[in-house]
Amino acid sequence: QAKITGRNRYHFFDADLDEQVRTHYNRRTEVRAAVRANELALYYQPKLDMRKGRIIGMEALLRWAHPQRGIIGPGEFLPIVEHSDVIIDIGEWVLREALRQLQSWRVFDANWVISVNIAARHFQRHDFVERLTAILAEYPDVPPHMLELEILESSALSDIAHVRSIMLDCQALGISFALDDFGTGYSSMSYLKRLPADMLKIDQSFVRNMLVDRDDLHLVSAVIGLARSFGLGVIAEGVETIEHGAMLMRLGCDLAQGYGIARPMPADEVLSWVASFDKAAVWQAAASLPPI
Ligand code: C2E
Ligand code: MG
Ligand code: MG
Ligand code: MG
Repeated sequence: QAKITGRNRYHFFDADLDEQVRTHYNRRTEVRAAVRANELALYYQPKLDMRKGRIIGMEALLRWAHPQRGIIGPGEFLPIVEHSDVIIDIGEWVLREALRQLQSWRVFDANWVISVNIAARHFQRHDFVERLTAILAEYPDVPPHMLELEILESSALSDIAHVRSIMLDCQALGISFALDDFGTGYSSMSYLKRLPADMLKIDQSFVRNMLVDRDDLHLVSAVIGLARSFGLGVIAEGVETIEHGAMLMRLGCDLAQGYGIARPMPADEVLSWVASFDKAAVWQAAASLPPI
């Protein structure tokens, strides 16, 4: 941070700050315009039950199909708007788009669960449940149990009692919850005790290194154990190789998502990908691999 020392310095700093604010404002306006211009898209990444060799659903991941810059990932534009109400517009767009997509996928497999990431600011709004109920009503053919919401375990969920009651209201509608990036936050343990989650999602940073880093292996193992003792489901993200999958199954985690299974893909590629997914047997075989 620059120190304000004299009159000249102050003016210089001021102009600098002004510039920063302006840039931030412009970028936010640009993202807001992208929503209106219908430039957002959802990609989908399959979730696999490795032991059964079955696709159990998809995670919806946001992309910005920028007319000049091409496909942009959420890490590049969500942080610009996550503290403004633009994130609410985006979140509601994502919910509608996922439900619209589910209308056709439910005919293909009514047991799929589609996960949607929800920003903390959106989720904690006083009218979240009310508006979600209204959005669900726009898609009467989609059973709410096909929808799972992922909330970031590391996000500042300020008022746990409030969050808990929102989760209970959503669960009464049939929607389930996963705690995303589990283990990376400050309060994993107290969240676990106080939030009615259905699923823990092991953070990919632990999964990625677990075959070479004992500490990460212990962390992955501990999260799986926690899920089991709390009676929750558990899924690993960032599963890039069969060896990762084999280790996870030996530790008691059968559900996985990662580049080793498939990268996120546009909606119109999903059904043909599922039809041609021929690696199921390989993953099932990995279930019986000896200890590494
Ligand atoms: P996340 O929910 O933890 O999603 C997992 C991220 O890891 C995705 O990145 C996915 O493409 C990537 N990934 C999946 N498998 C692998 C793998 O095997 N290796 C590696 N290296 N990466 C893998 P993406 O799509 O860039 O999304 C980043 C984050 O942005 C998400 O993390 C989520 O927190 C947020 N996000 C994405 N879509 C939405 C959305 O619709 N709404 C909100 N609020 N946040 C979103
Ligand atoms: Mg997620
Ligand atoms: Mg995650
Ligand atoms: Mg993440």
